[in-house]
Amino acid sequence: MSSDSASTPTNFIRNIIIKDLETGKHDEIVTRFPPEPNGHLHIGHAKSICLNFGVAAEFGGRTNLRFDDTNPLKENEDFMLAIMEDVRWLGFEWDGLFHASDYFQQLYEFALHLIKTGKAYVEELSAEEIRAHRGTLTEPGRNSPYRDRPVDENLDLFKRMKAGEFEDGTLALRAKIDMASPNINMRDPVVYRIRNASHHRTGDEWHIYPMYDWAHGISDAIEGITHSLCTLEFEDHRPLYDWFLENIPAPSYPRQIEFSRGNLDYTVMSKRRLRELVEEKRVSGWDDPRMPTLAGLRRRGFTPEAIRAFWTEMGISKADSIISMGVLENAVRNDLNVRAPRTMAVLNPLKVVLTNFPEGETVWLDAPVHPQNDDMGTREVALTREIWIERDDFMEDPPRKFFRLKPGGEVRLRNAFIVQCDEVIKDDQGEVVELHCKFDPDTRSGMPGASRKVKGTIHWVSAVHGVPVEVRLCDRLFTTPNPLGDKEQDYREFLNPHSLDVIEDVIVEPAVAAGVAGDFYQFERTGYFCHDNVDSRPGRPVLNRIVTLRDSWARIEKELAQKKS
Ligand code: ATP
Ligand code: MG
Repeated sequence: MSSDSASTPTNFIRNIIIKDLETGKHDEIVTRFPPEPNGHLHIGHAKSICLNFGVAAEFGGRTNLRFDDTNPLKENEDFMLAIMEDVRWLGFEWDGLFHASDYFQQLYEFALHLIKTGKAYVEELSAEEIRAHRGTLTEPGRNSPYRDRPVDENLDLFKRMKAGEFEDGTLALRAKIDMASPNINMRDPVVYRIRNASHHRTGDEWHIYPMYDWAHGISDAIEGITHSLCTLEFEDHRPLYDWFLENIPAPSYPRQIEFSRGNLDYTVMSKRRLRELVEEKRVSGWDDPRMPTLAGLRRRGFTPEAIRAFWTEMGISKADSIISMGVLENAVRNDLNVRAPRTMAVLNPLKVVLTNFPEGETVWLDAPVHPQNDDMGTREVALTREIWIERDDFMEDPPRKFFRLKPGGEVRLRNAFIVQCDEVIKDDQGEVVELHCKFDPDTRSGMPGASRKVKGTIHWVSAVHGVPVEVRLCDRLFTTPNPLGDKEQDYREFLNPHSLDVIEDVIVEPAVAAGVAGDFYQFERTGYFCHDNVDSRPGRPVLNRIVTLRDSWARIEKELAQKKS
C-alpha cells in the first residue's frame, strides 16, 4: 500500500492504538472491514476502508476483509466479488479473507454454551409479540413467559431449530440479560432466528442464522481483532458486544470503537436507496457514473488516490457532518491537475476556415502534454486549413469584456497562431455556420511574433484530423443537498433531470479517440474526462466528464444565498 500515512493527521482512534502499543496491551494491531454482501460499496464505505486498512498498515499490523454474510435472503456471491474488486481498486490488500459463515459452527457452539449456563432461552412469542414486550425508552420491558424454560428444554428445542424442524419465525433464541435495562439492546436480544433458506456459501446446511450483534463480536474475537472500528449507530450496541464476549469462553477481547459516518450532500448513500435507484432503473446500474458507489466513481474517472486523499483530509471523529460534494470534487481536481495529460477537444463545434492556409496541408505543431511538467514531454497537434472551435468562443455582437473571437477581432489559437476573423458566414435562418479567418504565421511558437499578446486564447481541433466521440456530462444526481430530507419527502422527486447530458459529436485529438478504458485527460478549458470502461467500443469511444475545471456549483450556491438574503 502507498504511504498516505506519512501525512495522516492524528485522531482519537489512532491515539488509542498508539497507547495500546506503548502500554503493551497489544503487540500487533489487527483490524477488519466487515461489509455485508448485499450491495456495492459506496464512498462512505471508503472512509471505513481507509481507516481500517490505513491505521493497521501504519503500525505494521494486519487487516482482514470479512463478509458479514448472516442474512441468506439478501446476500450473494456477485456482491462479494464486486466488493473485493472495489477494495483492491482503492489500493488495499487484505491479510485474511473471511466470512461470518466460516464461523457458523463455532457461533452455534457458543450459543449452546450460553444456553447451558442459563443465559439464553428459546422464545415462542412471535416477532410482533416480542416487540410488544420490549417496552420503550421510558418504560421497561416485560419478561417473556418462556424466559425461565429449563436448560434441557432449551437445548432440545435449539438443536431441533438447527435441524430444520420448525417454520421460519416460529421460534428464536434470545439472550437472557435484562428486560428492564435502560438500553433496549440489552432487553433479551434475539441471537438466532429460523430461516429455512439456502445460503450462498453454506447451502442448505443451516436452518438457523445468527443475528448481526452475535455474529459480529464473536467473529472479531475469533480473528483476534484488537480494535473493532465501526460507525456511531453501534455505540448503543457496545454493551451487548461486551456482554456476549464476557459470557462465552471468548478467544480474545476486541475493543469496539465508534466513529462518525461519512456523508455527502446531493446524493443518497444507504445501500437500500442505491438498490432502489438501480432496480427502478433510475440509473443504468450500480456502476452508473452518477452513483456514489465506488464502481460508479471509478467509471466516472475518480481516482483511488483522490478518494484516499479526501478521506485523509476529512479526518476521523465522533462528530456527525455532511460534507459538500464540492470538497470531494476538489480532491479529484487536485489529483488530476497534476497527472492528467492536456489535450484539446471541442464540445460544440463551429467551423473556421483559415483562408491564408494552404489547402490539403497539415502542419504539425509541438504542444506540451502538461504545461507545468516538462517531464511529460510534448505531443504533436495537427493544424489544417479547416478547424473546429467552440461555438461559445465566437460572438457576433459581444459585450465589452468578451475577449474571444468576434468579427474583426483577434484571438490566439492555443498552441498555434493568432487569427483574425474576417468574415461570418450564415445560413438562411441567420445562424452562423462558418467563420473565415486569417492567421498570422509570425505568431507561432519560435517565431519573432510568438510573444505578441492578445487578450483571448481559445482551443480548437483540426477538422481533418479530429475524431468525433460521444461525451457524457455527468452532474449531481439530485438537485437538493439533502434529498432524503424529513421522513415525508420522497427523494426520487429531487432527481436531477440534467444529471446526464449526452453530446454525440465532440471533436477530439486523434490520440484521445485512440485511448483505452480508464485513460484520463484534461480537455483544456473544459474539464477532466476519461474513457468509459463499459460503453466504449472500438471505433466508437465514449468519454465521461469526471469534473469541470472549476466548481460551478459553488458559484450557483453563492448566487442563491445572495438572492435569499
Ligand atoms: P448502508 O447503511 O449504506 O447500507 P451498511 O452500514 O449497512 O451501509 P455494511 O456493509 O454493513 O453497510 O458496512 C460495512 C462497514 O462500513 C461497516 O463497518 C460500516 O460501519 C461501514 N460504513 C458504512 N457506511 C459508512 C459511512 N457512510 N461512513 C463510514 N463507514 C461506513
Ligand atoms: Mg449494515
